[in-house]
Amino acid sequence: MLQLNHQNNNYECSGVNINELANQFGTPLYVYDAATIKARYHKLKSAFSGIRIRLHYACKANANISIMKLLKSEGAGLDAVSIEEVQLGILAGFQPHDIIYTPNSVDFSEVQQAVALGVRINIDNLRILEQFGMQYGNTYACCVRINPHIMAGGHAQISVGHIDSKFGISIHQLRHVLRLVELLNIRIEGLHMHTGSDILDADVFLRGAELLFEAAVQFSELDYLDFGSGFKVPYKEGEPATDIEETGQKIAQVFSAFCATYGRELELKFEPGKYLVSEAGLLLVRANVVKQTTSTVFVGVNSGQNHLIRPMFYQAYHRIQNLSNPEGATRLYSVVGYICETDTFAYDRKLNEVREGDLLAIFNAGAYGFAMANQYNSRLRPAEVLLLDGQAHLIRKREDLDDLLRNQLILSL
Ligand SMILES: *Cc1c(COP(=O)(O)O)cnc(C)c1O
Repeated sequence: MLQLNHQNNNYECSGVNINELANQFGTPLYVYDAATIKARYHKLKSAFSGIRIRLHYACKANANISIMKLLKSEGAGLDAVSIEEVQLGILAGFQPHDIIYTPNSVDFSEVQQAVALGVRINIDNLRILEQFGMQYGNTYACCVRINPHIMAGGHAQISVGHIDSKFGISIHQLRHVLRLVELLNIRIEGLHMHTGSDILDADVFLRGAELLFEAAVQFSELDYLDFGSGFKVPYKEGEPATDIEETGQKIAQVFSAFCATYGRELELKFEPGKYLVSEAGLLLVRANVVKQTTSTVFVGVNSGQNHLIRPMFYQAYHRIQNLSNPEGATRLYSVVGYICETDTFAYDRKLNEVREGDLLAIFNAGAYGFAMANQYNSRLRPAEVLLLDGQAHLIRKREDLDDLLRNQLILSL
């Protein structure tokens, strides 16, 4: 978990004074630490030694082009879930064959656009597979997304591999997949599964791997197996994370054994989003009001569910720290946003005494933070800053009123 170093009543991260950063760029402000992102990438990659491994950054977690370029420069490929993410990836400099496009519920025309751009296609349902085979036969390879029906992770919206999930082609429909492959002469280059976001131990991955191996032997032209994502990131202090070294070793071992049986050195792919960028991000906000009510003390900040919706949408826990009063006595607060909804960031949270104007840091805000931000209540989206080599780089400007009006055609009434 990202720790800020406390020096002379200020906090610093990667050589940058965070309190001054908030003064310089204003708040609310998203701040990302490049060193943390790079460290996560290399830690994950090196855990799978001895096999061919490729990590594709799932950019839906944070689609800022500079973040995409940073991961590209470290050697990552890209995982895109929409044609727009594919287009951003190409703008960021990714080669088309380093991009895996994994859409769901899209019209076939979007798949055709992705083929025209030359990216890898991951097919999520039988109807699209059939259309794909009819049009391309064996002239354009594709990957098939299998739903292994493994229940992983705690929260239903995060868990996507279970029986009621809309994602992927059921493992029980493999026979149908094989018939289409044979009849339409489709070249399947990869099999994919992505079971969810909160997998803690290697055994869930291993169970999924076994199912994928069983399926894989029925396809003769595979180049890769894609295990999706699901690495758990600690959000609370002391909360367990996926043991990456142990998971990596166990998976590398069974994967090598499988490649020997299959008769070919396949590539193992993962598509981490949260793992690479979550902990690297902070959302800096200021306390607008401290409000004592009959039941609690609220801290109302200059941000809300419009900037970071995970606490309200997923009941996610995000650590909060008062960066303006490190020596203050700790008190209990409910930290809430300024949106006209019940947008509570944290209940009953122990913070160093909060005074109006204090700077608060909300941690683990690098993934699904800005990416899910919106303009509800006609509020502006914040700026984003990347800390790189001891410098703070503005990588997205704060919005202004023009951004609210951008596509509106104003009637003269
Ligand atoms: C969301 C998603 C990911 C990334 O999930 P994280 O929990 O952020 O690591 C990877 N692959 C696919 C297909 C996804 O939809």
